[in-house]
Amino acid sequence: MKIVGHHINGQLSEAAERTQDLFNPATGEVIRQVAIASEETVEEAIAAARAAFPAWRSTPPARRARVMFRFKQLLEENAGQICAMIGEEHGKISHDAMGELTRGIENVEYACCGPQLLKGEHSRNVGPNIDSWSEMQPLGVVAGITPFNFPAMVPLWMFPLAIVCGNTFVLKPSERNPSVALYLAQLMQEAGLPDGVLNVVNGDKVAVDTLLTAVDVEAVSFVGSTPIAAHVYTTASAHGKRCQALGGAKNHAILLPDADMDNAVAALTGAAFGSSGERCMALSVAVCVGDGVADALIEKMCGEMRKLKVGAYTDSSNDFGPLITAAHRDKVNGYIASAAEQGATIVVDGRNPKLPGGEKGFFVGGTLIDNVKPGMTCYEEEIFGPVLLVVRVDSMAEAMQMIDRHEYGNGTCIFTRDGEAARYFSDNIRVGMVGINVPLPVPVSYHSFGGWKRSLFGCLSAYGPDGVRFYTNRKTITQRWPSSGVREGAQFSFPSN
Ligand code: NAD
Repeated sequence: MKIVGHHINGQLSEAAERTQDLFNPATGEVIRQVAIASEETVEEAIAAARAAFPAWRSTPPARRARVMFRFKQLLEENAGQICAMIGEEHGKISHDAMGELTRGIENVEYACCGPQLLKGEHSRNVGPNIDSWSEMQPLGVVAGITPFNFPAMVPLWMFPLAIVCGNTFVLKPSERNPSVALYLAQLMQEAGLPDGVLNVVNGDKVAVDTLLTAVDVEAVSFVGSTPIAAHVYTTASAHGKRCQALGGAKNHAILLPDADMDNAVAALTGAAFGSSGERCMALSVAVCVGDGVADALIEKMCGEMRKLKVGAYTDSSNDFGPLITAAHRDKVNGYIASAAEQGATIVVDGRNPKLPGGEKGFFVGGTLIDNVKPGMTCYEEEIFGPVLLVVRVDSMAEAMQMIDRHEYGNGTCIFTRDGEAARYFSDNIRVGMVGINVPLPVPVSYHSFGGWKRSLFGCLSAYGPDGVRFYTNRKTITQRWPSSGVREGAQFSFPSN
């Protein structure tokens, strides 16, 4: 059976003391295996990145950017193949995979602006005959560790920007769908990237912990679940590395009585069930202000949910596909069962859907649960499945307090026609990414992506301007060329203007 290996120093390698099965989640079949890197394999990748750094650091930013221009073109030319790879290993339908890839390509476009982004700042005459400037220097070897749910987009959040900034990179993608990352590395090579600048190692905790503790890794970008993000952040920081670790989410949408209900329900349906709810920005809780809003939402949502089409990625008319593994499907089913046990009302039950041909796939259909309350397991934890919870509250203030006390603060949205309420909400809510009648407020590539509270460890968000800051060290140089013949004595007071 084919083994998905590593990409180290420009070479594909299948070095594997261990392997793990890879599944097509729509059929439940094992389709290939992935190599699970040993410490030695990861060290080899770090050494390759370390060796490639001096030459890449000295390559002019405009030449580094040209690689990104070619890479962007190759991504566009091979989009069909990339989406099929995403579909086969993740289960995402092609329209959704294309959306993910397009967002990833936007990050490459941002990286194409490398020379502009790295220009720095210059001040002339900060003192007599003294000029000062700040430049952004690359860090060295950067590691990226990515989750299964965006196998193309999240790696593309990281390595194009890190590399255009002059760093070299070791990517450790999810071991559940690793083929896309390897393919991206091959396209970067085809685009003209020198060997060793981008390396991909597949693996699990052993690979991650080797990256987190290696002396030669300067910084770590992580995206995944909160418990692992906390581990990555504390371990990398304890080893002296710069770290940004993006974690899990529980994204609430508030529906005010004046909301345009038809549009809100359509938006919620896509944002709750798209990609089977396996998005860190999925809207998973609808907080209805007043019973009238909740009753109207449930009635309209049931109508929308009857139309949902669930199935394999091969049929592009499907709305969403399976969950990533059998274990994850069982976990999601467990959350639905716990909701019923803890007193919530299952309005639409997506467990064990009847899908001809999909009997062995890891499917859960759209699920709607009413009368959910804080404290219930389904409310407190991230489900990461096609499950929408409805919570009934009496006021917007109560809704905001509930959102603020939740441990996650990734995304949120308010549906209303009231500009004053929307402005108060966006000003005061303790969440990093806010939508106003926009269900998935994922920042575009020239802003930055990051949640608050336990959705992001570290102080810089992913990509965009924060990404440039994360992947560079600021150096400020102050320079004086005294006029010839001028003699000055020692000055013992602190220099000032
Ligand atoms: P995960 O935390 O299980 O895995 C993420 C990465 O960590 C993978 O590369 C995995 O190999 C590695 N890993 C797993 N267990 C580890 C361990 N014990 N020690 C060291 N490394 C380990 O996450 P996932 O299931 O792949 O992805 C889903 C999660 O990612 C969800 O919680 C979702 O909200 C989150 N996510 C967050 C964002 C964001 O931007 N905040 C974006 C996408 C996904």
